[in-house]
Amino acid sequence: NEIMRLKALKKSYNIGMPNEVEVLHGINLTLSVDDFTALVGPSGSGKSTLLNIMGLLDQPTSGELYLHGQATSAMDDLERTQLRGRALGFVFQFHHLIQAFSALDNVLMPLMLHQGKPDNEARDRARALLAAVGLEKLSDRRPNQLSGGQQQRVAIARALATNPALLLADEPTGNLDSKSAEEVFALFRKIQSEHDCAVLLVTHDPRLSAQCDRTINLVDGRIVDAL
Ligand code: ADP
Ligand code: ADP
Repeated sequence: NEIMRLKALKKSYNIGMPNEVEVLHGINLTLSVDDFTALVGPSGSGKSTLLNIMGLLDQPTSGELYLHGQATSAMDDLERTQLRGRALGFVFQFHHLIQAFSALDNVLMPLMLHQGKPDNEARDRARALLAAVGLEKLSDRRPNQLSGGQQQRVAIARALATNPALLLADEPTGNLDSKSAEEVFALFRKIQSEHDCAVLLVTHDPRLSAQCDRTINLVDGRIVDAL
């Protein structure tokens, strides 16, 4: 029941020839289907870098990332993009919704990217996802007609549109007041149990990470045991 495995994964950035700086120093990590994991660590510890690599948006300098048991390092960009679209969902601190689109059309976006013009089945699915995040009555509203928490719910519904095995969330509650943050967090919990979707979320909020099943502490590019 493994979804993703990182083996001896390192990442260096080029900061001008001949200088390279290594920011991830050999990460070993396995995520399983029922995981609900917090990724925490000080600013600059490498969380975004790690999340980008796990999201197949960036490549490690060495080591390997397996997704559904498949090694990804030898894949070309197209294969990586297709795998990302099939297996992964993303939620960001800022929702990146399209302002000119209704909530429903925002959720339909990833489906359209995969299959072109949305059919009735896609529309039904998008409606069901909006209902799952408690927005069935607001599906015709545009993002600026919704609260911050509601907008983030739309972004979560959109991330689920392709039925990902793993949802990666970079500070999904970082821009919300504490009540909305709790509600959005509870929604991730519901998704993980009802949609069989593993969740890994970056958070600075210790009250939220304490409610996750597992916490990964990243310090200076290394995973350390909790103190
Ligand atoms: P990035 O991950 O893009 O490198 P960070 O999110 O780590 O940037 O943080 C930028 C700054 O904002 C850091 O000083 C971080 O500690 C602070 N910060 C971000 N989110 C929160 C939060 N929810 N509560 C407190 N401080 C935060
Ligand atoms: P976090 O998300 O925990 O704040 P980051 O992954 O953003 O950490 O950054 C980890 C380290 O990598 C930091 O020292 C940062 O300055 C450096 N870094 C991040 N992105 C780049 C880049 N594109 N080029 C060079 N250095 C980078």
